[in-house]
Amino acid sequence: MSSRGGGRHLAQKLVTAADAYQRAVVIPHCSSCSKPCCRLEPLVLELEWRQLKGLWQIEESRRAFDKRLDAGHGPAEIRAADGLYFAHGKVCPAYDEAGRSCRVYGQDLKPAGCSDFPVYEDGDAIIADLRCEAVDLADLASRLARAAGPGYRIVQAADKAFPFLVTLLVKRVAKPVAKG
Ligand code: SF4
Ligand code: SF4
Repeated sequence: MSSRGGGRHLAQKLVTAADAYQRAVVIPHCSSCSKPCCRLEPLVLELEWRQLKGLWQIEESRRAFDKRLDAGHGPAEIRAADGLYFAHGKVCPAYDEAGRSCRVYGQDLKPAGCSDFPVYEDGDAIIADLRCEAVDLADLASRLARAAGPGYRIVQAADKAFPFLVTLLVKRVAKPVAKG
């Protein structure tokens, strides 16, 4: 990338293309998805306390809830760590199975991770999570390449520990060496 400003401009183009991909390809598939991510199997949902409280309709104070969780009497699908909560293994209470939709769509209660999944920005890269059956890596990479423009290519790398997470990085195409 030519400069910090140019790099940011390019990164913004990729984010815009990733958002457009979510809207054009992923979201239209959600209503017919065979493994909806909102069932939280195998996905883990990261929540702030206010989101957990609202979505799980917890009436007690955070302190009382944490105590109950520590004692093993909290919801079995919730774990606490580093000031956050993680839900896994049970359908999200905001998920409407019949309508295949989120009841808190567009609301503050919806965790950020829900909107990011399955294609999101991470520094200079775009990450694609292949646990979403709607993601077609070749199609996504070609859209990102088009967004970056001529002179760039997309390089893909799967995470070693979690191969369903694929990093897509934009690289300059090397200029041919001029011959004498
Ligand atoms: S896994 Fe993908 S297609 Fe399925 S519900 Fe989630 S975002 Fe939609
Ligand atoms: S908050 Fe909505 S989008 Fe997020 S897991 Fe629950 S139902 Fe799905």
